[in-house]
Amino acid sequence: MTVKTMEPKAEHHESSMFEAVLARLDVAAKIYGLSEEVANVLRNPQKQVKVSLPVMLDNGKVQVFEGFRTVHSTVLGPSKGGIRYAMDVNDDEVKALSAWMTFKCAVANLPYGGAKGGIKCDPRKMSVTELERLTKAYTIAMADVFGPDRDIPAPDMGTSGREMAWLVDAYNKVHRGDFPGVTTGKPVGLGGSLGRDAATGRGVMVATLAALKKMNLDPKNVTAAVQGFGNVGSHAARLLSEQGIKVCAIGDHTATFWNEKGIDVHAALRYAKENGGILKGFTGGVEIINTELLTANVDVLVPAALQNVITEEIATQIKAKLIVEGANGPTTPEADHILNEKKIIVVPDILANGGGVTVSYFEWVQNKSGYYWPEEEVNTKHDASMNLAFETVWDNTTQFKTSMRIGAYITALKKVELGIKAKGVF
Ligand code: GLU
Repeated sequence: MTVKTMEPKAEHHESSMFEAVLARLDVAAKIYGLSEEVANVLRNPQKQVKVSLPVMLDNGKVQVFEGFRTVHSTVLGPSKGGIRYAMDVNDDEVKALSAWMTFKCAVANLPYGGAKGGIKCDPRKMSVTELERLTKAYTIAMADVFGPDRDIPAPDMGTSGREMAWLVDAYNKVHRGDFPGVTTGKPVGLGGSLGRDAATGRGVMVATLAALKKMNLDPKNVTAAVQGFGNVGSHAARLLSEQGIKVCAIGDHTATFWNEKGIDVHAALRYAKENGGILKGFTGGVEIINTELLTANVDVLVPAALQNVITEEIATQIKAKLIVEGANGPTTPEADHILNEKKIIVVPDILANGGGVTVSYFEWVQNKSGYYWPEEEVNTKHDASMNLAFETVWDNTTQFKTSMRIGAYITALKKVELGIKAKGVF
């Protein structure tokens, strides 16, 4: 199976992530024939909020942090998207990630628009009490932006259920009530959904199996490399190995490992759990450098860590036949072009990592109804939803003779266009 492509090379400025979104949007809009008016609406985020957050550190000094929230679109429903804590969080990145959420939710058939938020901070260097004060200061500053029917955050890089519980607490205090649906990714028992933690990794597994089927490859004869061992990568590696795929390389920000016979992913999970969540010191493989994982001799590559890791240079060296993007924006538009030429199938981020927001939606539905589902029901509904999204993107990919990335953008554009036109503009 090869994907024919008549895509023009996307133009973008290397440094801007939002430009990387626009580059793909422009290519998809042209191939699909999107009206210029609708394209213009999508080129501009609906709302961008930036706040200064003075927070008391444990040493008694006050530090001012920058907080961001961008609502890209609410055309298809309340905006949805995570909050990331990292030192490189900035306007451009949050804007790009918010637009991807709009497209991701549309591809996943969810009644949501897209948003993203973040705080410029280094969570690894902050104490738990400092992080709690920072999260609550941010929530109070965003108390009129967020809302269960307005804008619904979730965890992203550097945040987890712990931050979401703090967020709910601060929001509830401002709005004087109990609003579990103001965020998703909460701890189970505090309105969180069973299956949410593993959901993004599970979606990556479902998307990988669906793609392998199209390629007529048996998972039992397939090898994989997974970059990232956090919330997405660790579950993805585990679930892929449970499907019989031999995971030969794993890695995180501390170390990367290769084992030709297959890494024992469960042993790696146990190791990371006992060692503060990191892989450094793991002995289940030989240590390699990070970029060697991306160019390793495997069938499937799952970038599930950072953005912009698959550059033009890396793309030329990639040996995998299939790339499944667990991270948001791991591939640059310039690299897209090379991967297309090499006929490598790329299941794009806005499809491949949509499992997380899909189960976020299930969590929100459970919060609204006050009735909680067993994990099996969550997983069954999730898998059906991912498979449907995959098939719809596949159909558009073949119909428009594009890469899967542009096929996914077209899938999203069709839905958002319908919404914009039906609601009207005044
Ligand atoms: N941060 C995740 C993502 O990028 C989840 C978003 C959500 O569940 O709202 O898809």
